Amino acid sequence: MATFQDKMRPPHGVDPEYWFTQVYQKYQGHPLLTLVGLYRGNFHKFMLAVLFFFIKHACVWVLPIVTANIINDITSGAPETAQNILFYTVLMVALICLNVPMNYLYTDYKSQATRYAETGLRKALIRKLQELSIAYHVETRSGRLQSKIMRDVEAVEGLSTQLFLSILNIALNVGVALAVTVTKSMVVFVFFLVTTPIAAVTMVSFRNVMRRRNAEFRKEMEETSARVMEMVELIPVTRAHALEEEEIRKMSGQLFAVAEKGYRLDLVQALFGSVGWAIFQIFQVICLAFTGYLAFRGRILAGDITLYQSYFATIVNQVSAVITLVPIIAKGIESVNSIGEVLLSEDVEQNDGKRTVDRVEGSFSFRDVHFHYHDNEKDVLNGLNLEVKQGETIALVGESGAGKSTIINMVIGFYLAESGALLMDGQDLREIDLRSYRKYLAVVPQTSILFSGTIRENIVYGCGEVSEEKLEEVIRAANLKELIDSLPMGLETSVGEHGGKLSGGQRQRISIARALIRDPRVIVLDEATSALDSISEKLIQEAVNNLTRNRTTFIVAHRLSTIRDADRIAVIAEGRCVEYGTYEELMERKGAFYELKKLQS
Ligand code: ADP
Repeated sequence: MATFQDKMRPPHGVDPEYWFTQVYQKYQGHPLLTLVGLYRGNFHKFMLAVLFFFIKHACVWVLPIVTANIINDITSGAPETAQNILFYTVLMVALICLNVPMNYLYTDYKSQATRYAETGLRKALIRKLQELSIAYHVETRSGRLQSKIMRDVEAVEGLSTQLFLSILNIALNVGVALAVTVTKSMVVFVFFLVTTPIAAVTMVSFRNVMRRRNAEFRKEMEETSARVMEMVELIPVTRAHALEEEEIRKMSGQLFAVAEKGYRLDLVQALFGSVGWAIFQIFQVICLAFTGYLAFRGRILAGDITLYQSYFATIVNQVSAVITLVPIIAKGIESVNSIGEVLLSEDVEQNDGKRTVDRVEGSFSFRDVHFHYHDNEKDVLNGLNLEVKQGETIALVGESGAGKSTIINMVIGFYLAESGALLMDGQDLREIDLRSYRKYLAVVPQTSILFSGTIRENIVYGCGEVSEEKLEEVIRAANLKELIDSLPMGLETSVGEHGGKLSGGQRQRISIARALIRDPRVIVLDEATSALDSISEKLIQEAVNNLTRNRTTFIVAHRLSTIRDADRIAVIAEGRCVEYGTYEELMERKGAFYELKKLQS
């Protein structure tokens, strides 16, 4: 059976995920063309939707004609009037009944096309987010990207459905009304052309004033609820300082400010709402007087007066709807550009075409490595030289800001050396496909990043099939056995959002298990700085030792136990390695490491 995805896919198999980027590039600066491009491959669905829309709406346009014809027949005393009335009745009932299935078909095709484009856009953004460099992600706060995926795509979708639905509606309504009018009476047609823009513009300008006032009121309301939230949070502090009356006074001021804005809004709405209504009605009366006079002079038939009355109302309303649409369109266009910005960003990791590695021993050599961040002139790594042998555990120590995290990010390949080189098994990291290298790498970050799911899912993340024996072994090595055995649901216990139901130490051990199960050759471990009780500390240290055995390990170390257990210690200062050796060697030397230790103890 065809899935929903298959049903939505255009026949030529173009995936909007890929071509939005191309379309955007091609039509850069022409958001409307970009928008049209978004539906490429689905145009036939649009055409069908338009056709169904036309049929579905027919009853609305036909009714005034039918009414006019019936009146004309009656006033002229035509002999076949009775048959005509029967015919028109059947016609109208048929058209009205058609509305239901046609509306369904119209929505079906329209929705397939718009939802498909919307999904494609989201997918394109998601893929791009996965490809963008870590530097890009660090610089762009994640909230902004998230809002791009959700809000901007929605605005683009809003833009396209609005354009489609409203413009189609408006164009068809106005088009039919004008077409019928022009064939029936040129004079009335000219009258419409002159009066409708005036009527529409005056109505909309009054409505805009109301909308502005409305927005102001809403903002004030939001402000008030924010203040109430703040006040509630602050209650213990307020109480402790006996400031209740003060708070009540402040809030009461805010509440009255809102009340005043609301009162003004009511008055403005009463005034402007009725003025807008009156203007519309006056134009209706003018139209009635004009067509009535024409009928009196015999220029048009008496029944056509009702026809023009209802067409005039339709046209005026539709033209004002177009004017109202302008801000929605502007917002959508802005979003098209905002999405395009992300999709066109070239700050992606370049892996394609580079050599892949199918074996990693795990020896590293930093050779006079220099590196600085985009937004910072200063070199963070400043001629770093460091040799790490296969299987060795190296602890990086040094003051905050010395460059330790930068070094481990380089080992992961998040940042690449600008001059000098970082060699892994003798190969320059800049020249290899990092994705192939990272299969042999595991990272235990400073704050364990768990996703909402079970403990098992968090451990085997991205590992595919894992045997129960292997899992058991990893759990034991990560010192998780006792914890898991104590939970009624065991491995299937849900960890809560971001692992919120577990303690910091437990999260870290899960993080270590996640690294262990990949059986990596290289480990990058950023030790948590948070203080732990001695039992947790011991459990974690054992897990870490199990993890790092026989594997090349880089640790940003904060704990004495880790530093002692490391094979080598590198003291980093100002982006260079200033001391290097075993714990005993460095303690004996009484240099930078010795000073650092003395400060901490
Ligand atoms: P450490 O891990 O030793 O505390 P880092 O490697 O985190 O040091 O930082 C070294 C220097 O680089 C610091 O001065 C820090 O402010 C700067 N730095 C770190 N990350 C960034 C970044 N993403 N953009 C700009 N500067 C950064």
